[in-house]
Amino acid sequence: MTDNPQSSNYALPHIGGLEAYVPGEQPGNNEWIKLNTNENPYPPSPVVGEAIQRESETVRLYPNPKSAPLREAIADKFGLQAAQVIVGNGSDDILNLLTRCFCGRGRAAGTTRPSYSLYPALCGIQDGDLIQIPFARDMELPVDEIAASGANIFFLTSPNTPTGVGFSTERIAEALESFSGLLVVDEAYADFANVNAVPLLARYSNLVITRSFSKSYGLAGMRVGYGLASEEVIDLLDRVRDSYNVNSLSQAAALAALGDWQYYRGVIFQIVETRDNYIGELREMDWFTYPSQANFLFTEPRDGNGRSGAEIARGLVEFLKERKILVRYFGGDTLTDSFVRISIGTEEQMKTFMETIESWQKSSA
Ligand code: PMP
Repeated sequence: MTDNPQSSNYALPHIGGLEAYVPGEQPGNNEWIKLNTNENPYPPSPVVGEAIQRESETVRLYPNPKSAPLREAIADKFGLQAAQVIVGNGSDDILNLLTRCFCGRGRAAGTTRPSYSLYPALCGIQDGDLIQIPFARDMELPVDEIAASGANIFFLTSPNTPTGVGFSTERIAEALESFSGLLVVDEAYADFANVNAVPLLARYSNLVITRSFSKSYGLAGMRVGYGLASEEVIDLLDRVRDSYNVNSLSQAAALAALGDWQYYRGVIFQIVETRDNYIGELREMDWFTYPSQANFLFTEPRDGNGRSGAEIARGLVEFLKERKILVRYFGGDTLTDSFVRISIGTEEQMKTFMETIESWQKSSA
């Protein structure tokens, strides 16, 4: 009788050591105030539901394999060629394609620390080396360190997460000048910012920009994102893409959303206004808060005795959770472990949040 080998014996050797990306909690009911995964607190435009309804009649057919009408519409929005656009199952799909194409043994991926923790997970799947460049507490872009990193592909999030800090076009241009690899600027939150790197696409062929319909367009559940780059890079990404990577309902929803900028401009304006008000309020309470260009803020809580630190931050997260408010905590790094990240909710949700932190402060005085 032969030994029954464990299934893991069949896996590639590095797979057993991987740590899967851990997404933020999704409680799946409406009892919670969800300020933990940077979703849009407002509903999508009514034209989205209508488009999904119309498209539902065609779901017995495969979707447009390249999401061609959506590529055209995105290209139009930015004054680019459709051949410079790729659409994915969320921008995570595009980040995955980029890693599959440009990271592997002998082709390291680079990222800043802190940043979006999916990049290390994707690099691990490829068994590629990961180079992490830590920020200083001022969160200034470490251009020289990126240039010297030796990475083949570098993932930069702007505005960054979890801090919300955005990088100027000039600083990103400096990075593109001095870094010899492919620079991915992940702009999942760029619609909430006052600058973005799109104008640089005309000048730098080593620039890739990724964007999402999950945040500003309120379509996180539909899973649509896209990448903007040179025709050559898009052509490579298309070679590794799943043939039907975006379903037909999602394509229709994103196309409809793109056509109703009037609605979304109002939603974005509201979120930015709420964000800036609450950053002001937290700073008035003497909570150190980064200047955010995104739909969330990153703040260092102080308890009723004016103390801050990792234990205090964790205590606040627990206190909020017990009262059905979810925020995100990033432990294990001194740059982030005394902070909490708070997605911007509706005015009403934010008011409840503020009242709850006031009662936490009282309880800890
Ligand atoms: N990039 C960053 C920086 C993010 O925070 C997120 C959301 N988790 C994504 C990309 C993924 O967005 P999508 O829903 O488009 O896959």
